[in-house]
Amino acid sequence: MKYHLLDRNVCCPFCGRANLAYKRPGQHGDVYGCNACLKTVVHRRQKGKPACGLVPVLNFGQLGYWKPCATRYWLPWPPSIIQPIANF
Ligand SMILES: [Zn+2]
Repeated sequence: MKYHLLDRNVCCPFCGRANLAYKRPGQHGDVYGCNACLKTVVHRRQKGKPACGLVPVLNFGQLGYWKPCATRYWLPWPPSIIQPIANF
């Protein structure tokens, strides 16, 4: 595990439920799976930024939008803190 363990109340970016479980180390960060909807997210550091955050893994392994772990509670995608993934 490269980063800190995710807080228990961090919610899945796909279904919004707090059901994420650590699966394995990945090429770009720690891989978590959602036990509710079975989707995958990666906990990683954004290039050029000190903070770590969560990235949803979409179909065909494409990465979604990175979101920082700064807040203890997972808010529903406030546009002000959405960061586009680039050059990872
Ligand atoms: Zn889910």
